[in-house]
Order: sequence, then structure tokens, then C-alpha cells
Amino acid sequence: MTHSVAIIGAGFSGSLTALNLLTSSPRTSVTLIDSRGTFGPGLAYTVPSDRFKLNVRAKAMGAFPNDPEGFFRWLKEREPFVSPDAFVSRRWYGIYLQELVREKASSHPDALRLVHGEATTLERIPGRTAFRITLADSSVIDADTVVLAIGNLMRRSVGAQSALGVLRAPYDPVSYQDVAQRESILILGSSLTAVDVILECEGRGFLGHYSVISRNGRFPLPHEDAAGLPQASLPPGWENPGTALNLLRTLRTESRRCGSSQPVFDAMRPRIQQMWQGLSLDQKRAFLRHARPFWEIHRHRIPAEHLSSIEKLRAAKRLAIMAGRIERVSPNEALVSRRKSPGPPERIPFDLGFLCAGPEGDLARIDHPLLKNLLSQQLVQPGPLGLGIGAAARATVPGLYVIGPLQRETLWEITAVRELRDEAQRVAHSIVSAST
Ligand SMILES: Cc1cc2nc3c(=O)[nH]c(=O)nc-3n(C[C@H](O)[C@H](O)[C@H](O)COP(=O)(O)OP(=O)(O)OC[C@H]3O[C@@H](n4cnc5c(N)ncnc54)[C@H](O)[C@@H]3O)c2cc1C
Repeated sequence: MTHSVAIIGAGFSGSLTALNLLTSSPRTSVTLIDSRGTFGPGLAYTVPSDRFKLNVRAKAMGAFPNDPEGFFRWLKEREPFVSPDAFVSRRWYGIYLQELVREKASSHPDALRLVHGEATTLERIPGRTAFRITLADSSVIDADTVVLAIGNLMRRSVGAQSALGVLRAPYDPVSYQDVAQRESILILGSSLTAVDVILECEGRGFLGHYSVISRNGRFPLPHEDAAGLPQASLPPGWENPGTALNLLRTLRTESRRCGSSQPVFDAMRPRIQQMWQGLSLDQKRAFLRHARPFWEIHRHRIPAEHLSSIEKLRAAKRLAIMAGRIERVSPNEALVSRRKSPGPPERIPFDLGFLCAGPEGDLARIDHPLLKNLLSQQLVQPGPLGLGIGAAARATVPGLYVIGPLQRETLWEITAVRELRDEAQRVAHSIVSAST
């Protein structure tokens, strides 16, 4: 008998779970559902222009764990002069993923169905172990197993205040239409997304001033040439540090010895999830409080040329970055309390603002009909750390799996392709072995 799987969300996570399922079991039929109507690219690889680049070199972005060079080979057939070390446009990556899905759909027409629609509710079918998904247009899809791959749910608020109508979304092309006519831009957040926004505004002819505000007041570090760096040698048992402080000590000591944190993170990466799962809840909280700012800028790096563009803007006094917290934001002014400054909040005027404060992990604040529906039935539970869905294993309840950034609560290191491609394979294997 065929085992039916419905996957909600066709970004990288959902699409790769589908492809792995179809490769590993001829008895599986998959329905892949996505509200944006594209199958493969998701949020990260649907971009307004070619200025939005991958932050990982082309040679490491293959969609399958056993073939990290797969994307580079595909790209080289289309762009013969591309270097394996290039940070290419994310648009290329979106096309690559879309082609992988399209090829599978045409080679397995009876086993892979692509559905454009928004899933709004999910419930168990009474008396059966199967589920029924209802879409916004009231159509229904029944499946033995469901995979929730709804991805990065973007933050929509600043503190308790809604940012809607005040700060724009970084990945919506409409957000950039009038940037060239503006004089001052406020950016909340200083991570990879903030860098994307700055480079896009520059490319579109913005000539004014950027005020960038974030908790740590620092941009991500640049990728260094790995060939020029020593190999990190981690102390035995580093992956069971016991405390967040011990982990930070290892990172600092080894980074000092190597002259860079990059090889230390590279060496740690395969066992970061294991390390995270071994920390107590209190120590995870301590990590998030004390180590997260350091972790974010050292672990999630940007191409060196992007940082030098930012440095040029700073040198020309066109960009100021400050560590602080936005107390209130109105359409033309933000009230910012600077970190370590006892004075009253500072007024920062702006005539265009972007919200780049990263994904929202606090499920109570997410305005997502399906997630609200699942929470109300306790089919998923918010994790205690406010990072996403709490689940002891991949399935939140029997037959309902989660994959993607909402797994940060349980895995921490689960946002990049390298971890997601492994996870997509593991989720597919778990589903196949549970169904046989
Ligand atoms: C801007 C950005 C850039 C990144 N760049 C890199 C990089 O260079 N290298 C790297 O390794 N990693 C990168 N990442 C990390 C990683 O690749 C992505 O986070 C990953 O693509 C996540 O994929 P996903 O499928 O889990 O989520 P998403 O891409 O967010 O896809 C989720 C999909 O689910 C759909 N959906 C949601 N709710 C519903 C619903 N109710 N019904 C139907 N459909 C629904 C959405 O429309 C969306 O298409 C980047 C991430 C971001 C956000």
C-alpha cells in the first residue's frame, strides 16, 4: 500500500524532504504544498535582485549531503567561468532548487503532486491515524504523515509594538521601489539581512545616511581564506561542556591560538547539535544571554567584499552603527536607548525603515493561521527558550514531523543548507522506517 505524505512548505526544507522521500521509498506519494506557488526557493532564495548573494561558497551548497558540489556543477553548466569559491546570487540557488523539484515531478508524475495554496488547519481524521489539511480555498488534502516545513517566520514587531506600516520587510521587492528618493534609512538589526538591505539600497541609487541599531552594534565577520588558516584542535569532550561558560572559554582559547574563530567553528560544526542537546535548560538560557551575540557574528559570516563595502560607507560617514534598543518607533523617528549609556533615549530621525531583526521564534507572537491552529490543538508546543517548536524528537506527535528553522529550540544549529540537507534526509528516513 502507498504511504501518503503531505509536506506543508516548499522552501529548501520541505522540497528536500520530498526529494529524499521519493528517492528512498517507491511506496511513498508526496503532496508538496506552498502558499507562494513556487517549489524549491522558499523565502531565502526568492530575492528581489542579483545583489542578494549566498553567504556560503558555491562549492559547498549542493542540496544533498553526499554531493556538496552538486550546485557548483549545475551552475558551471550555465556560467562556465564561475569559481567554486564564489558567493553567487541567491537567485541562482532558487532556480537550482526549483529545477530539482521540477525534474522529480516529471520523472515521478504519480508520486509527487505540487499544490499552490495556504494550509490553514490540520487535524486528525477521527478514528484514523491520518491527518486532514484544509487550505485557505477550503479544499482538503488527507495524508498518513504530515511534515511541517513552514520555514523562517519573520518578526513583525519591535518589542511589544507592531512594526507593520512603520518598518518595511527586507525581502519584499516593493520595499525598495522608492529608496533612491529617500535621505535617511533606519535599519533595525545588524545581521546578514541588514547587510543585504544596505547593498540593495546602494545598488538602487540611495545616496543618504544609514542608522543601524542592534543589541550588539556589530556586523558579522567576513569569511577568511581557509587555506591561510591553521586547523583548530578542539579539546577532547568539548561537545559536552557542561556550561555555556566552558563552551565560550574553548571558543576563545582556540580562536586565539588559531588567530581566527573561523576554523574553530568549522571544526565544531558537525557536533554543535549534539553539544546543544547536552546542555541543561538553564545553561541554554545562559548561552543565549551571554554567548549568542558573539556566536552570531563569528558563526554567520559574510563575504569579505560585502564588509569592505560597509566599511567604505562608514568611512564616508554615510553609515552609523550603534548598540542599543529601540524603545519606540514611529513612521519617521525611533527612540533608542544606547547600551551602557545612562542618558535618556536618543531620537533617531529617518524617512525609510527596515526590520532586519531576524526570524521570530516566540510562537505566541506569530500571526500564522496554521501555527495558531496547531498550537490550539496542542499538536505543536512552543519551546521554553522562545526559539521555535519544542519537540523531543523530529515528530511532535506520531505522524507529524517538523523540519527547518523552527527546530532551533531542539537543535540550535539548523538554519543553513549544510544542516538542513542532513536533516531532510533524516526526516525522510524516519518517515519511511515508521511506515514500514
Ligand atoms: C535571507 C536568507 C538567506 C540565506 N542564505 C543562506 C546561504 O547563503 N547559505 C545557507 O547555507 N543558508 C542560507 N540561509 C539559511 C537557509 O538556507 C534557509 O533558512 C532555508 O532555505 C530555510 O528553508 P525552509 O524551507 O525551512 O524555509 P523557507 O525558505 O522560509 O520556506 C518555507 C515555505 O513554507 C511556505 N509556507 C509557510 N506557511 C505555509 C502554509 N501555511 N501553507 C503553505 N505554505 C506555507 C512559505 O511560503 C515558504 O515558501 C538563508 C536564510 C535566509 C532567511
